[in-house]
Amino acid sequence: MRKDVHRVLLDREAIASRVTALGRAIADDLESTGGPSREIVLVPILTGSIVFVADLIRHLPQRLRIGVMSVSSYPGRSLESKSALIHGSLPDDLAGRHVLIVDDILDTGQTLALVRRIVLEHHAAQVRTCVLLRKSRPRVEEVDVDYVGFDIPDVFVVGYGLDYNDYYRNLPDLVTLRPEAMR
Ligand code: 5GP
Ligand code: MG
Repeated sequence: MRKDVHRVLLDREAIASRVTALGRAIADDLESTGGPSREIVLVPILTGSIVFVADLIRHLPQRLRIGVMSVSSYPGRSLESKSALIHGSLPDDLAGRHVLIVDDILDTGQTLALVRRIVLEHHAAQVRTCVLLRKSRPRVEEVDVDYVGFDIPDVFVVGYGLDYNDYYRNLPDLVTLRPEAMR
């Protein structure tokens, strides 16, 4: 796997300190705005956000629950994200809850916009969004993101949960791949 790496974009130490800061910001906001119920429901979008969300929740001292959603591009190689498909379902008692949708990366914006709409249909009291990475490129769908880990250039990245053809999720750093590895 190491030989497939072109460049380390963000190393594990940089990620860890940013995730700590994000967790604190989310926890502080919740303390100040949560009202009587400071409980939140985290909605991680599978599979890319698993590593991020595993680290993030350990910086959130509040009572929380997790309801995962699975949104995938149409089958095949996914260097570009295509129309999203939703799988699975949310907890059925989201009404009145504070929900935080968590994804690995904001690219075209379609995934986050779609999940946000679905959560809102469940009458959540408040829906916030958090992504580890935000690519600098035009969005197909505009979506407000409340918490962003890093702004990155428009390059394809893997590691820390993000994949290429389902591989490389276990790399601890966020990296770009050599072109030979993406054939
Ligand atoms: P969007 O719907 O915003 O276009 O796409 C978001 C999804 O596309 C992410 O959750 C991720 O699955 C995938 N994606 C977008 N850019 C990248 C990237 O650079 N690397 C990887 N591994 N996945 C990406
Ligand atoms: Mg994804």
